[in-house]
Amino acid sequence: MIEARNIYKSFGDLQVLKGISLAVKKGEVVAIIGPSGSGKSTLLRCLIHLEVIDRGSIIIEGQPMAYEDENGKTRYVPDKQIRQICKKIGMVFQNFNLFPHKTVLENIIEAPIVVNKVPKQEAVDMAEALLRRVGLIDKRDSYPSQLSGGQKQRVAIARALAMKPDIMLFDEPTSALDPELTGEVLKVMRDLAEDRMTMLVVTHEMGFAREVADRVIFMDGGEIIEEGLPGEIFCNPRSERTRSFLKQVL
Ligand code: ATP
Ligand code: MG
Repeated sequence: MIEARNIYKSFGDLQVLKGISLAVKKGEVVAIIGPSGSGKSTLLRCLIHLEVIDRGSIIIEGQPMAYEDENGKTRYVPDKQIRQICKKIGMVFQNFNLFPHKTVLENIIEAPIVVNKVPKQEAVDMAEALLRRVGLIDKRDSYPSQLSGGQKQRVAIARALAMKPDIMLFDEPTSALDPELTGEVLKVMRDLAEDRMTMLVVTHEMGFAREVADRVIFMDGGEIIEEGLPGEIFCNPRSERTRSFLKQVL
């Protein structure tokens, strides 16, 4: 479970998040849609502490990471605790972010060994199981440069899963891919959703949002404009802003 309450974030004079509140329950798949620049990536980056929020609170698996003190000032828990909390969150980025000088297998076992102190053989076994799951066991010893974009992204997903996260965040995982490669990545994400992984997915893939998400959130201008069941958002949006966005993308 991940919960954000009334999050504000600015970069200089630019206010990017203006009081965002959301909760993703265990086993739930929530899709975030919205125009470019609406703050979707910034929101995910705040949840995993790649950005520091100005105001609000963030609670992950019941543990506060950022909270408002009695004077209403937002504070973070100590760094060590933040690292512990963020270990529960896996994130997959648009541009894969694999280590180029490491093989596929080495990419996956690195963090479990270094961060989670998993014994090497156990990490290798787990990595191989994950590679089978994403259909890439034959690429075990390849380097990222030898893979297609879709394969790289599947390795990135396997790498995130190797940390045994409770929650997975995806930031437009298919938008850097050629159209014919998006399907294989979406399939892995669908499988994860079927296994009841808790997922928060920023996506331009309206088909995925519609079919896989339990709930859809539409963001615009740093705010949540509306949220609801996929059927409600796509077929019967309440807000004019949602309607005009959907008209452009569908
Ligand atoms: P897209 O769909 O294009 O990925 P987005 O909804 O993910 O857009 P963000 O990347 O969150 O949007 O950006 C929201 C706004 O914040 C944009 O105007 C962007 O230029 C600005 N922004 C994001 N990161 C920074 C930063 N580190 N410094 C300054 N401005 C930033
Ligand atoms: Mg973005």
